[in-house]
Amino acid sequence: MKISKVETFVLHVPVTRNKIEDSRHQITHWGLVGVILHTDTGLCGYGYTGTHAHLATDQLISHCISETYAPLLIGEVAHDVQRLWAKLCYFPPAQWVGRSGITRLALSAVDIALWDLKAKAAGLPLWRFLGGDSFKKVEAYNTDGGWLNWTIEELVADAKRLTGEGYQGVKIKIGSADPNDDLERIAAVRKAIGLRLKLMVDANGKWDLPTAIQFGRRFKDYDVFWFEEPLWYDDIYGHTVLAQTIDTPIGLGEQLYTLDDFRNFVHARAVHFVQADAVRLGGVTEWWQVADLALAHHLPVAPHIGDMMQVHLHLAIAHPACRLMEYIPWTRDCFVEPATVKDGVFVAPEQPGAGTTLRATALERYGVS
Ligand code: MG
Repeated sequence: MKISKVETFVLHVPVTRNKIEDSRHQITHWGLVGVILHTDTGLCGYGYTGTHAHLATDQLISHCISETYAPLLIGEVAHDVQRLWAKLCYFPPAQWVGRSGITRLALSAVDIALWDLKAKAAGLPLWRFLGGDSFKKVEAYNTDGGWLNWTIEELVADAKRLTGEGYQGVKIKIGSADPNDDLERIAAVRKAIGLRLKLMVDANGKWDLPTAIQFGRRFKDYDVFWFEEPLWYDDIYGHTVLAQTIDTPIGLGEQLYTLDDFRNFVHARAVHFVQADAVRLGGVTEWWQVADLALAHHLPVAPHIGDMMQVHLHLAIAHPACRLMEYIPWTRDCFVEPATVKDGVFVAPEQPGAGTTLRATALERYGVS
């Protein structure tokens, strides 16, 4: 199975209620920037990364795939995933200009497409191809009811709706101008959902260490399940201090690009829930290495779903360190087999591949040039 053609795409998909905000970002669309790897067998592999749908930066990723990686892929044996990953990652031209950022997002898309092809060639959904457990249940918590631009009444109403639909937890965004407002929102949601369901909070890296210590100490009053990205993404020292100071566990990883990054956080005891993201790490290949690292330290992996769940669902079923995963529905109608939740648990996909195959209508409807 040789790679015969490398085709790129950029999709911009509207988000819930036309606009959402966290403490650092305001977005109206989610971007899927990706690649279709065509092969001489007729099989096609689909992979992509996730962005905030800014066309100029999306094109940088797309050009990295089409102009830098594609010449290195044409004619190659698609099954040789580890060798191709190393070829794109460890050597010039890409290695010289970036071991993180755009080159890594582009690498993720290619790697996921290669694993999609490998599983399709085997006739298996990726989670089965990777040896996943048919009886495993991956719990779903919902993030799409907790945006910072919603009033406290909207927040509470949505938390009630989502838990009524069977979700076993909700995550809300914090990082308001006055952290006391965040505590008020946390208290209101906890009261609305009761004590049995999980409540996570996510500052998206907004707070400084004193704020995180002062207000994070109070999260235990509301039984917060984890405190996500409390501090600037790369601040290992600050996260270590915080993790040893407050009672609420720390979740992070959606902004980390490499196995080395995760190794450094884990060894510094700066993280409890490892939120590896295959579309920011170098795809399935490096995500699996990070999940193994977490497993070796008995830390749970809760994948960040920068791809809006598709490939991560397969990985969450397949890897023993995963038990729960985030749900955000924005890109559901883009896929032939969208990730689905029933009674609070993700449904195991059945179609061969990584779940990343796009519907033709998605390219027509959301494609941008
Ligand atoms: Mg987050």
